[in-house]
Amino acid sequence: FSKKKIQEIRDQFPILKKKIYSNSLVYIDNAATTQKPFQVIKASEIYYSTINSNVHRGLHFLSQESTFYVENVRKKIQKFIHAKHSSEIIFTKGTTESINLVASSISFLIKKGDEIIISYLEHHSNIVPWQILCSKKKALLKIIPINKDGLLQLEYFNFLISEKTKIVAINHVSNVLGIINPVKNIIDKSHEYGALVLIDGAQVPSSLDLDVQNLNVDFYVFSAHKMYGPTGIGILYGKEKILNYLDPYQTGGEMINKVSFDQTTYSDLPFKFEAGTPNIEGIIVWGEAIDFVEKIGVENIQHYKKELLSYAIKLLSRIDGIQLYGGSDLKKRSSIISFNLSKLHCFDVGSILDRFGIAVRTGHLCAQPLMNFFNVKGMIRASFSIYNTFEEIDYLFDSILKAKKFLLKH
Ligand code: PMP
Repeated sequence: FSKKKIQEIRDQFPILKKKIYSNSLVYIDNAATTQKPFQVIKASEIYYSTINSNVHRGLHFLSQESTFYVENVRKKIQKFIHAKHSSEIIFTKGTTESINLVASSISFLIKKGDEIIISYLEHHSNIVPWQILCSKKKALLKIIPINKDGLLQLEYFNFLISEKTKIVAINHVSNVLGIINPVKNIIDKSHEYGALVLIDGAQVPSSLDLDVQNLNVDFYVFSAHKMYGPTGIGILYGKEKILNYLDPYQTGGEMINKVSFDQTTYSDLPFKFEAGTPNIEGIIVWGEAIDFVEKIGVENIQHYKKELLSYAIKLLSRIDGIQLYGGSDLKKRSSIISFNLSKLHCFDVGSILDRFGIAVRTGHLCAQPLMNFFNVKGMIRASFSIYNTFEEIDYLFDSILKAKKFLLKH
């Protein structure tokens, strides 16, 4: 991308004009959530001023219109991830709810002594639901280890997997190290043993091309807010045959076919898993975010973010006493860079960067087992997006040097 093109993109994000302690905002906390372009912000206003109505129930014009837009976004997501049927797209609150949905709806399949495999790299939301399921069912949670760079040790995975394994749940891209995991190998190997696979793709949309059919994955989950869309909405993709087989998650309106006091039958997919009024606005607005991403092109976004990452690694590795995590193989990395500085506390460094107007994430990054692995309390994480610039990385570099100098003196 030319500088002019990036400036054009930046101009679509009003928040980037904000001053933080009289400095320009440098927003590099995109792995937590991305900023929203005008077309997404505007879509929310348009929805409430011209479409607002409940879906799927009404005969009247507005209800038909809101239903049409919601179902249209379902189809858009189906296309975006190359799912076979739009009914395989279940709207949820986000990645976390999608994982909880699967862990709950699949629990009837898990028996004492069964095994579930996750990895050392997981976000808490891909640990705790499985841990609870295992403890309820007296099943065992097995963990794929990583090497010192944070790469999954696949030879151990081959050792852990067996006929006892019922579910394998792994992230596609680590939210801490930005490592892109070899999920296709893991999916294929798991299927050889009859295990189902859930991939936590929270860090993926707009960072990698997604093709759930090609991956042959059983469940794939992600949130809208990390791809320029609104918070409070995300999806569970699941293979039709498997979703049909699972129990419903929440129950109530929308997910039923017939209700009597003796018995209830459930709706077909996707509504069986969508109890209650959905986040109609969130879904419709998300559609605009997908249009935004597709207009620029996932591949172009991916390419640009990789350039930013490569530049950041090159620059930051020059800092004396910096500890960068995640290894040096850029082919295996997405646009996330986590680090620590000498013996300095990550909160102290983060607080000073904040004073310079730089938004980074600090702390355990929702991955305490991974922090324990590296024997640290936390890390500082910079994560890039399409609106970030090389100049912002220069500014980050200078600001880290200043923070270090200040903190070592005091
Ligand atoms: N998994 C990973 C890898 C993530 O990065 C995140 C968000 N930080 C989540 C799960 C949870 O996503 P959400 O908060 O949108 O449910």
